Amino acid sequence: MNLEIVTIGDELLLGFTIDTNAAHLARELAALGVRIVRRTTCGDDATSIQSAVRDALDRTGAVITTGGLGPTADDMTKPAIAELFGQPMVLDPQILTNLQERWRKRFNHELPVSNHQQAMVPQGATILTNNFGSAPGIWLEDERGRWVAMLPGVPREMRGMLADTIMPRLRDRVPAGGAVIRSRTLRTANIAESALADRLGELARGIDGLSLAYLPGSDGVDLRLTSWDRDARATSAALDSAAALVREKVAPFVYGEGDDDLAALMLAECAARNATLAVAESCTGGMLGMRLTAVPGSSRTVLGGTIAYANEVKTRELGVPAAVIAEHGAVSEAVARAMATGVRLRFGSTIGLGITGIAGPDGGTPEKPVGTVWVAVDIDGDVRAVRATLPGDRHEIRWRAAQLVLDRLRKAFSRDMDATGWTSRS
Ligand code: AMP
Ligand code: MG
Repeated sequence: MNLEIVTIGDELLLGFTIDTNAAHLARELAALGVRIVRRTTCGDDATSIQSAVRDALDRTGAVITTGGLGPTADDMTKPAIAELFGQPMVLDPQILTNLQERWRKRFNHELPVSNHQQAMVPQGATILTNNFGSAPGIWLEDERGRWVAMLPGVPREMRGMLADTIMPRLRDRVPAGGAVIRSRTLRTANIAESALADRLGELARGIDGLSLAYLPGSDGVDLRLTSWDRDARATSAALDSAAALVREKVAPFVYGEGDDDLAALMLAECAARNATLAVAESCTGGMLGMRLTAVPGSSRTVLGGTIAYANEVKTRELGVPAAVIAEHGAVSEAVARAMATGVRLRFGSTIGLGITGIAGPDGGTPEKPVGTVWVAVDIDGDVRAVRATLPGDRHEIRWRAAQLVLDRLRKAFSRDMDATGWTSRS
């Protein structure tokens, strides 16, 4: 089944909002066997919306739009497309009642008159329930079976409505046994693309008709296997066996799959060991604590942290001896170790993590260029430290430093340290 996407909003054309809706729709629908053959973006303007949707209907007969369903004057998706279908706008009493109740309950306020237009729908339309917001979606179909599904622009609402209402409908329409496009991603950390390719050898060129993509980012390199031409059942089997082959070759570097977050995984590992965690951060300035506490349930494991940016703070708050800083410099193995141990002892946690580094753009020297970081993991007094020279701009270096210390914790947990080159000075 072929389908086109039309995303609507001036903010998309101006570049202030990135069109994540189109990307999300494409990914989800490919897995169903629906092929997105074209994407169009247009502004908040009835004529543009009509011409984009008319062209897409003429070509493909199946269109999903996002955006322009809100209560304000720039939201004109519904009337514009209704006109295209030759349908008048009519008031849907059920939607009006729902909106009125929602306003009374959530805001303790009567529904403003400007919101009444959210209850106007094209005659003959099917209403798509919005479980995540106020504006319902619309499904409009003509006598030839050509259809437009109008979804909200707010990504969370769009995703919810796609899952709740569109996916079930399309599943019924997509012929069974057709080809689906699905991917499986293995997430690796602290290994370069080229080193991964070396380890994968023959597999690097693809496995059993599946493509293999290397996707480097601040978290590490993701390895994504994609199946293009099998039916749903064969796709799962092919992805399972290819993922197992790849994993076997690069196992020590794989920390997760899909959109797994290393911080969340490490918290789960800590919780499984009844271990608590405290962090001492210099160059990351709280980023590690932010990532850890972003995970629901982190309060069971994370006791707290110290942003020890200035040398005096490293000494006063973490007990890093001033003499050690003077002798080795703030970015050094000795300081990283003392930070990890200091924060563990002061917070009374099982584990202490320490990060010190040069995030740039200034402050580098020939011996310690920008990107130099030392991280340390102290588990109950067993301290390991590692140095890395991280690439990227200031933000990326800071992010990668947090990822590095989490990955070292992972390696300490997996007791795989020697096999993966864990030394105190790698
Ligand atoms: P709208 O439904 O057009 O009022 O859009 C509401 C908000 O959703 C906008 O302010 C954007 O922040 C966001 N949004 C709209 N379209 C998209 C899109 N295609 N991708 C990501 N965000 C979007
Ligand atoms: Mg809009």
